[in-house]
Amino acid sequence: MKFRNFKMVDYVVYGHGSFNQLDEIIAPHRKGDAPMIFLLDHFFENGAVTGDGKALVNRVPLRGKDKVIFADVTFEPKTTQVDKLAKQLKDEFGTVSGIIGIGGGSTLDLAKAVSLMMTNPGSSADYQGWDLVKVPGVYKVGIPTLSGTGAEVSRTTVLTGPTRKLGMNSDFTPFSQIVLDPELIANAPVNQRFYTGMDCYIHCIESLQGTYLNEFSKSYGEKALQLCQQIFLEKDSWDAECDEKLMMASFAGGMSIAYSQVGVAHAVSYGLSYLLGTKHGIGNCIVMNHLEPYYPAGVAEFKRMVEKNNIDIPVGICKGLTDEQFDTMINVSLGMKPLWENALGKDWEKIMTREKLRALYEKL
Ligand code: NAD
Ligand code: ZN
Repeated sequence: MKFRNFKMVDYVVYGHGSFNQLDEIIAPHRKGDAPMIFLLDHFFENGAVTGDGKALVNRVPLRGKDKVIFADVTFEPKTTQVDKLAKQLKDEFGTVSGIIGIGGGSTLDLAKAVSLMMTNPGSSADYQGWDLVKVPGVYKVGIPTLSGTGAEVSRTTVLTGPTRKLGMNSDFTPFSQIVLDPELIANAPVNQRFYTGMDCYIHCIESLQGTYLNEFSKSYGEKALQLCQQIFLEKDSWDAECDEKLMMASFAGGMSIAYSQVGVAHAVSYGLSYLLGTKHGIGNCIVMNHLEPYYPAGVAEFKRMVEKNNIDIPVGICKGLTDEQFDTMINVSLGMKPLWENALGKDWEKIMTREKLRALYEKL
């Protein structure tokens, strides 16, 4: 097919306090006494509160056999973790009515993947790639408590598997429902909020300067970029309006990527993440700091945002690595072909040589 025909999220609710409608929203999707499973980011395990001052864990609308499972996102999601969660649920309940992910991008991705693995045979590692998932998962809801990744709208769930870090990209991957309640991101720590927010900013720069760009992506990308500039550069202090804007920037940034691709920062940061376990948001920032040759205006603006928000971006993280380790990162990174092609065009392999990429990794 010449033009991609992509599946989107089925339902979206947006607004301060919209989380309170969750019970009502999911009610029609309950199948007999099969439970709803709430996969809650482990950050909320000990009663952490959100913008309304109440502990989020106490606001989960449990009924019947429903269960809260705390998602351990110390490390980004792995295929083994997804398989284990799906098996645990099948062993305990046979079937479930739905999976409701509440948390950052990692928890949202876990929820999507577990939903798919409730109905698809084998291991989630078998489905890392494009359009390998053949059966719809169970009903799935995504509720972000950090904004920026766009995981709430994307058709992928990024997993680290036995041989690679790659998403389960499919028409069955997007959420059935998302709940965008800016109150839920209000208490995120400044650094974490910035790193995840910059994922959105970097998505915009990579998409808007990419060769895959079309008007669909551009319209969403420009809006997301404008919102990021307002909150990270123009505002004097963070307020509820910033949470609203950041949540919509993430949504629009994700929509922009749906029809285009990310670029150099993501391709290089995937190598860091695979070898060193560097997390997505901070990893992108570490790389972006050194990408003047590729995105001169975007990098200059990124640096102004870092300074204005008083954020530390780590340096020297590749110091002392062996040749073999550099090679591993280079292999992972150069494997992300669509990202490089989007960033540098069809002849990207002539431009981004192994030597050039090694020199870039050495700077990080
Ligand atoms: P995250 O989900 O990895 O969470 C980072 C940390 O913040 C965790 O310790 C978490 O417990 C904590 N946290 C979550 N909500 C919080 C809150 N309200 N207050 C304080 N702490 C909170 O971070 P992220 O940047 O949102 O997501 C990164 C993940 O998203 C990566 O795994 C990446 O691969 C994935 N991702 C997915 C897509 C996609 O399209 N599916 C796109 C980009 C990134
Ligand atoms: Zn990203």
